Amino acid sequence: MLNERMVGLGTQRSVIRELFEYGNKKIAEVGPELVFDFSIGNPSVPAPALVNETASRIINEMDPIILHGYTSAQGDATARKMIADSVNRRFGTDFTGDNFYLTVGAAAALCCCFHGISNPGDEIIVFAPYFPEYKVFIEGAGATMKLIPADTEAFQIDFDTFEQAINEKTKAVLVNSPNNPSGAVYSAETIKKLASILEEKSAQYGHPIYLIADEPYREIAFEGVEVPYLPNYYDNTLVCYSWSKSLSLPGERLGYVLVPNAMEDFELVYAAIAGAGRSLGYVCAPGLFQRVCAYCADETADISVYETNRNLLTKGLRDMGYSVVEPGGTFYIFPKTIIPDDIAFCERAKLDYNLLIVPGTGFGCPGHTRISYCVPTERVERSLEYFDKLARSYR
Ligand code: PLP
Repeated sequence: MLNERMVGLGTQRSVIRELFEYGNKKIAEVGPELVFDFSIGNPSVPAPALVNETASRIINEMDPIILHGYTSAQGDATARKMIADSVNRRFGTDFTGDNFYLTVGAAAALCCCFHGISNPGDEIIVFAPYFPEYKVFIEGAGATMKLIPADTEAFQIDFDTFEQAINEKTKAVLVNSPNNPSGAVYSAETIKKLASILEEKSAQYGHPIYLIADEPYREIAFEGVEVPYLPNYYDNTLVCYSWSKSLSLPGERLGYVLVPNAMEDFELVYAAIAGAGRSLGYVCAPGLFQRVCAYCADETADISVYETNRNLLTKGLRDMGYSVVEPGGTFYIFPKTIIPDDIAFCERAKLDYNLLIVPGTGFGCPGHTRISYCVPTERVERSLEYFDKLARSYR
């Protein structure tokens, strides 16, 4: 008898993947000009030149036995030190390499955190709208995901509902800012309030409630938008980071968990993260890209196209009558659908206009749709006519 949960996960394709596959078929039928695939979050700008230069240099210069060998489980010591130095320069912190545990992207970083900190029955609080894989990762660790409905006015946090949801089983609160799918960035005010509630509730229940910051989009923030650095606000913060989006390297699978010294029982928590990585069979993160990302840790891909696309879509959709909260970062925008039934809306978008957009329901936020605008600007420009026709089709 197989593990039914795993069979289910392996056979049910995600809505996003379904749309992506549909798009590929449709392109073969009608040509690429007439299909607007806004389904998937694959960066559309190349990695900075320094990435390839560094990779070539390392391949040519490093002893291949070391380069292609296992690193220590937490990652190569020099790479971790370089990453710590970069974080310290940018966020005024004083971490060392020993605060970092390198992982196979942010996904593995999250899994290490959920497995490392939680026991069966523990609850992890997540705010809608949320990245759907969270549920898979949290349940995989034997914990329960507790969802807080979205604040659809600004995509910040509905604090009343949040406070009521915390109880003695709450092990952690997961935040994702800049956010997939809304593009929202939590303000410093939101973070301060969140931190003060967590301090108070940790004291009330007599154990730390961890704040897990999922930050693959940290560097994709637009002009004038500050992304508060959470360890500077709350000691018991675990940061899950990756270079998938900031350096456009999703296939290279490199990220980390940051465990600050200020965290209660820092050494035990770090050991639990490492133990989780071991039990999940990660062994170590990819060796070449540990070094490449360390050398490129101060770099970001040229994200200007995302900002151009954000501006075009925010204005364009608003002019057509869509209600939109302007994204502060990422390459996603999350407008309200013209009718409350987001699934029917996205189906019409797909079948009548070849607009491949994802229903908000899967992100825990019905009545909305996610548009991934990590695409060439000319595609966004050409799509506007069809978003307009879609809106008009309901009038
Ligand atoms: N968290 C969020 C919010 C994401 O959108 C993604 C990927 O799209 C991940 C985590 C996983 O990223 P990675 O490629 O670093 O594993």
